[in-house]
Parts: sequence; C-alpha cells; structure tokens
Amino acid sequence: MKVLFTGIQPTGDIHIGNYFGAIANWVRIQHDYVPFISIVDLHAITIPYETAEMPTRVEELALTLYTAGLDFKTTTLFVQSEVPGHADLTWIFNTITPLGELERMTQFKDKREQFRATVNVGLLDYPVLQAADILIYKGEVVPVGQDQVQHVEFTREVARHFNARFGDTFPECQALLTATPKVMGLDGDAKMSKSKGNTIGLLETPEQVWAKLAPAKTDPARVRRTDPGTPEKCTIWSYHLLVTPEAERAEIHTGCTTAGIGCIDCKRRLHKHLMTVLDPIRARYQDLSGRKQEVRDRLSANAEHCRTVAGDTILEVKGKMGLNRIWKI
Ligand code: SF4
Repeated sequence: MKVLFTGIQPTGDIHIGNYFGAIANWVRIQHDYVPFISIVDLHAITIPYETAEMPTRVEELALTLYTAGLDFKTTTLFVQSEVPGHADLTWIFNTITPLGELERMTQFKDKREQFRATVNVGLLDYPVLQAADILIYKGEVVPVGQDQVQHVEFTREVARHFNARFGDTFPECQALLTATPKVMGLDGDAKMSKSKGNTIGLLETPEQVWAKLAPAKTDPARVRRTDPGTPEKCTIWSYHLLVTPEAERAEIHTGCTTAGIGCIDCKRRLHKHLMTVLDPIRARYQDLSGRKQEVRDRLSANAEHCRTVAGDTILEVKGKMGLNRIWKI
C-alpha cells in the first residue's frame, strides 16, 4: 500500500469545516494506505500563539481526531515536534531550494499581509517544512484541498531537485484532491474559520448548534415566507449538501424555489441531519476524555515509530550527501 501523509494544525476547537472538508475524508481512506497523520505544531508556531495553551490544544486535537474516527490502532497519528527528523530534513532541503520559489507561494504572500508585524523566516520556509513532513516518510499520496495543491507541487519539485543532485531517493508525491467542497462560514461570506468566528464546532451540543443555525443568513431574496428562494445562494443549503439524504434534498430544493418551505423549517431539518452525524462523535469524545492516558500513550508510541522511519531516511539522505563520516569510522 502507498504511504499517505497529511497534517493538521493545533489551532483550537475543530469545526465542521475541518471535519467535512478534510477529517471525514481521512477517516474514509485511512485503511487504503499506510497513513501518517501529523499534528503539526512546528507549523503552528510560525504565527503568534500562547505557549501555555499549546499542550492542551495538541492533546485535545488528538482526542478529537480519534473520536472523529481515526483508527486508534492502525493510523499513525503523531505530534510533529516529537520527531526531530522533520526539522533536520527541512534544513537539508533549505540548501537545495531556490529562494524565489518560496517567495512566489500564494500562502506566504497572504500570511505576510495578515501577520505584517510578526512575519518571520518560518512563514517563508513553511512549504519546505511541509515537503520534509511528507518526504521523510517517503509519502506518495497527500490528501489536500485545491488551495494546497501548489504546496504538493512544490514538494514534488523539492524531491526532483534532491534526486537529480544526490541520486534517486524520494518519490514524487501525488495530491489526492478531496471531493468535499470548501465549507462556508455561518456568515455566508467566507470559508468556515475559527479566526472569522463563523464556525459550528464539531463537539457543540444540539442546543448550541441550533442557537447558531436559527439566526444564520439565508438567501437574501427570501424576505417574506412567501418569497421563493435560490438554494444555491444560501449557506444553509450548502450544509444540506453535506448531511441531508439526496431524496430529501430534492424535496427541500423544490420547496425553497416554490416558497413551499420556510427557512426555519429548512433549518430544523438540517439540524436533525447534522446532529445525526455529530451526536455519535460527541458521545465518543466524552468516553475517550475519561481515558486520556491511553491517548497520550498512543501518541508516544506513534512518535517512537515515526522516529525510527524518519531516522532511516535521514541516514540515507546524509549518506548520499557525504554527511555520513561518523558511520564510516
Ligand atoms: Fe435557504 Fe432553506 Fe431558506 Fe431556501 S428554504 S433560503 S435553502 S434556508
């Protein structure tokens, strides 16, 4: 089976955008590959953060990923900073990466604007660390959204540079594009994102979710109950596409365009289907929260496994680069 690598930042509570946009897909495909899934805390420190919060965020994220369906036994979920090889390989890749290629990356340009006062070398070097994350396990498949395809292409470029200079070592990984669309935020204006405050949390209670859905924007054309609407202009409809069975969706679509269904009824039906997905996840979270030590032990064992795999790659790389004197004497 091919090696799969992906990562997720410990930036706070997981929302349904993370779940439907990425995690649910990882859960679906995890048994088709040899999966390495990393909590990428080294990436998270490239922007301002609270040091006291980081350990809890990492642990909570691991707990949430397991409760969302990652296989506790067979999927290697680990914390990036516990495997030193990622940083080692990043430095090596830095020495073969043209500066211009990094400066052209769209995400760097966006982040430079967003964090103008604190922009650091780590932000510029982010794609090199990502390349190291993938290639240190000789990752062949990287599940990503469209906005990350440029980074996978960059990783392929790094592998090509290295292989051309030092001999065939790394595979050219493939982006595995997820079928799920970007999940819109509750404000209807942007991608769901914690920083924009427009999220529905994966672990929120039915009451909390309803308190957010009830006042959420719908198609602005539906001013009165009798006004027909266009589902494609409505955030609520975009959520129906994620959770509501197809036959019922068709009925809702017709109901909206003919003013046969009101927005509150439409939201109630969405709430029911959304909770069908979220209720079991929340229940598993409560169960696993009482067994945190098991999660900690699993992360430690997985990090150990990763250090072995990564260590082998670093030895091979150093050998090919003439940095292996110590193993020759
Ligand atoms: Fe949106 Fe549903 Fe209202 Fe149509 S009926 S505008 S899909 S909330």
